[in-house]
Amino acid sequence: MAQSAQNQESVWSVDESPSIRSYTLANLRKLPQIEKFSEEQIFEMEVVGNVLPFKANNYVVEQLIDWDNTQNDSIFALTFPQKGMLKPEHFDQMAEVLKRGDRKEIQETANTIRLQLNPHPAGQMELNVPTLKDGTKLYGMQHKYNETVLFFPSQGQTCHAYCTFCFRWPQFVGMDEMKFAMQEGEALAQYVKEHPEVSDILFTGGDPMIMKASLFAAYIDKLLDADLPNLKTIRIGTKALSYWPYKVLTDKDADETLDTFRRIVSKGKHLAIMAHFNHLVELKTGSVKQAIKKMRETGAQIRTQSPLLTHINDDANMWAQMWQKQVDLGCIPYYMFVVRDTGAQHYFGVPLVRAHEIFRNAIKQVSGLARTVRGPSMSATPGKVQIDGVAQVNDQKVMVFRMLQGRDPEWVNKPFFAKYDENAIWLDDLKPAFEEKFFFEDGLKAIKEKKLA
Ligand SMILES: *Cc1c(COP(=O)(O)O)cnc(C)c1O
Ligand code: SF4
Repeated sequence: MAQSAQNQESVWSVDESPSIRSYTLANLRKLPQIEKFSEEQIFEMEVVGNVLPFKANNYVVEQLIDWDNTQNDSIFALTFPQKGMLKPEHFDQMAEVLKRGDRKEIQETANTIRLQLNPHPAGQMELNVPTLKDGTKLYGMQHKYNETVLFFPSQGQTCHAYCTFCFRWPQFVGMDEMKFAMQEGEALAQYVKEHPEVSDILFTGGDPMIMKASLFAAYIDKLLDADLPNLKTIRIGTKALSYWPYKVLTDKDADETLDTFRRIVSKGKHLAIMAHFNHLVELKTGSVKQAIKKMRETGAQIRTQSPLLTHINDDANMWAQMWQKQVDLGCIPYYMFVVRDTGAQHYFGVPLVRAHEIFRNAIKQVSGLARTVRGPSMSATPGKVQIDGVAQVNDQKVMVFRMLQGRDPEWVNKPFFAKYDENAIWLDDLKPAFEEKFFFEDGLKAIKEKKLA
């Protein structure tokens, strides 16, 4: 199981004001720490990095990773390409063309492999794209659950570093037709006006906190000025606290970002930072603690979420400590996710039965204030599906589920049962325990037919 740089002395002092330096395939070999690896290991990283996105930065490299223990280091596995992320046949295919070195062939092979990795799970493209009353399709938005609209600002479609498991990977590898993003805050405001059921907007990406403060402010002010009484909450989905806390500390526009946060709050809107933390190590530096404090001082609430990942965080004790630490720092544990059925799921995924065991072994150790967290939850086509556990009904061992969110709100919180299967890793692997179909299947079919008509 993965361990990490927990015991390492912090290299940077709290009052450091660094500039971000990115590491990608182009300069991987210039990274001083890479000298510890053999030529073969570096080549393996390059093979994987030519298919799935790779980007790290100086904070991640110098503050979070323990370079003396990279085989077991969670943050190394979180940010640097691992051989096992590609299935052996894909790995060999890419290794071969990479050795030949023909750029065009490498690109074509990469795209062929990528298309086999289920780049758009859960019907995101076909089912969730909303339309304005005048017929305009809003490709930079998704609207799946009544109350919450997802908004993908076009300048926020990258991150301060990339997570190896990320399900948004197609957006980062230049498969342009897969990129959905939007310029106009106006269309967003118009959509929220036309939909009184929408109370929450979630800015997402990539990472919207990668945007310059002035751009971010322009989107926010468009919304605040539009006077939308139904809009109660602005959520910002971000990993900046773990990958670049200086965004709100010492970057040139840090104060401007925090001022924008304050403006949201003073307009009477709830500002929810949906912070992505995968490991306790990410909460240990002086800078992340300071950044959390700064954000909270604006009146923002920070809620936390992460998927459960083999090689990175499949350790109940670590989760218990991480949630407790988050509560100590004033954050609210919110979601534990199941790895989606895309990209490197075969490498990072944890079967549902085991995921639930880890969740239970973690949550039983923490105070009620950390038990706000829900999961393990699959963001699947019908909704967010949580595994509640394993039970015995008469002679049959079953898995118990419920939806935390549903495409049809009527589906929410109805318990349902699947045949016990300790290898099942996603909703599609499950069979109903007592019926022909799951209760939501006909309804989902009807919704799909209506949307795709
Ligand atoms: C998770 C999610 C939301 C937000 O759901 P909450 O349970 O309100 O946090 C909204 N839209 C999509 C597509 C989601 O996956
Ligand atoms: S920060 Fe979020 S969007 Fe960016 S790579 Fe990580 S999981 Fe994906």
